[in-house]
This record gives sequence, structure tokens and C-alpha cells, in this order.
Amino acid sequence: MKERMPALFVGHGSPMNAIEENSYSRTWSKLGKELKRPEVILVISAHWYTNGLRISNTTLPKMVYDMYGFPEALYRVKYAAKGSPETACLVEGLTGSGVRIDNSWGIDHGAWSVLCNMYPDADIPVLQLSVDASSDAYSQYMVGKQLAPLRDQGVMILGSGNVVHNLARLDWDQESGFPWALDFDQYIKSKIISGEYDAVIDYKKAGDCSKDSFTTPEHFYPLLTILGASGFEDRLAIFNESCVMGSLSMTSYLWNFEKIII
Ligand code: ZN
Repeated sequence: MKERMPALFVGHGSPMNAIEENSYSRTWSKLGKELKRPEVILVISAHWYTNGLRISNTTLPKMVYDMYGFPEALYRVKYAAKGSPETACLVEGLTGSGVRIDNSWGIDHGAWSVLCNMYPDADIPVLQLSVDASSDAYSQYMVGKQLAPLRDQGVMILGSGNVVHNLARLDWDQESGFPWALDFDQYIKSKIISGEYDAVIDYKKAGDCSKDSFTTPEHFYPLLTILGASGFEDRLAIFNESCVMGSLSMTSYLWNFEKIII
């Protein structure tokens, strides 16, 4: 049995976090230095939202620049990590017939904007698992439960999304979050801390504040998968706790065997 690797959900926010030095990118960089170094990173990114569960098994994943209207420098970011066909095989075994091999995607900005700060040398293999649009919230959680044994085989499981993500309500002049965004972020945080995962999966129980927090769930679902991959023996750390531009939450969660001060 290898040392257990972390499971973490990262609020990725603006793609500009890839190249800007700010409190978020600094924390990601610190995490890369402090956490036990994984052999492989399995990323569940909000930006690969497919009908049915997909996994990449290529040895050389391509870069996906799945964002529009940003400065040219962002489209020059390269993250040339290798893939991990072996880990894709393990994922197939753990998730049964529910997953299909698909190399039409690659490493998208949900993954590379975080990883180019965490592991800038891109010397750890990366593979992505999609977010299944045809499954409900509980199924996203159960996929995490199926994947959890990977953590004992050198694989870090990284979910990338945002707890609150409503681009239609984005206000660039807002430094923090709208009251409903802060309320929803706080609801999710308090239920995670108290271990009431049912109330996270059934997020509509949060009431009115859940209505505007997202209109489609792809940025929220990776949190549920990571929740499923967490274990009772893990220590929870919450980092980058904040909302920005009114309707984006950056609040992030780490489940790690050892206590980490972030
Ligand atoms: Zn995103």
C-alpha cells in the first residue's frame, strides 16, 4: 500500500489565474510544494461536460484552450504533461462499464490553470475524467466513491469547478459575492464541515440562495465527486475561501491524510 494521496476540489475561477500572481495562484503554488507528490493526477474538470462518463487514455494529452476573449498570453500557456493509460485502465476497472475511452478532449483550462501553478514543471502525468451530464448529483458522488481506492495507488484526485458559478450574473465591479452567493457558499461549507453530505448532494435544500448559484451544475458536480473520494480518516482543510465578481465562489476543499496548514 502506498501513502495515501489527497483528494481536493479547487475553485478555479477566471482562466487569468493561470498567469496572474494573486492570492489564489499563490495558494495553488504552495499546495504543490506542501502536499505529498503524487505519481499521477486525475482531474475531474467542469469544462469536460459530456453525455456519459469519459476518460482519456492517451500518452500525450493535447492542450484545450476552452475560453474566449482573453489576452493572447493565456493562449500561449503550455502544460505538456504526459498522460497515464495505466491509470485510465484502473479507472475503467473501478467504474465498471459506466465509462468510455475518449481522447477527443485533452487538458482544459479547468485543469491547466490550476496545475501550471501547482506543478509548473508538468512532470507528473495527468489524465482527465469528464463530468457526466446525464447523471444526477448523487451519481457524481458515487463515482468519487468508486475512484477513492486510486488514492492508495499514488493518484491525486483533483476536482476543478466552482461552488457558485453564474456567468450571467457576473459583475466585474464586485470584489466579493452577492449575498445569495455568500449564503450558498456558506451553506455548502457548513454542511461539509458537519459531515452532512446528503445536504450537499441535495443542495436545493439551501433554499432561495441555491437558485442563482448556478444555472447548469457542471462547475458544482466535481465537488460531489471529490466528496465521494474523501474518507473519514482524512483531515479537511478549506482554502481560498471567498467569492469574487458577485457570482463566483473560489472556496476550495482539501481532504488529506495529514494536516496541512494552507
Ligand atoms: Zn470554469
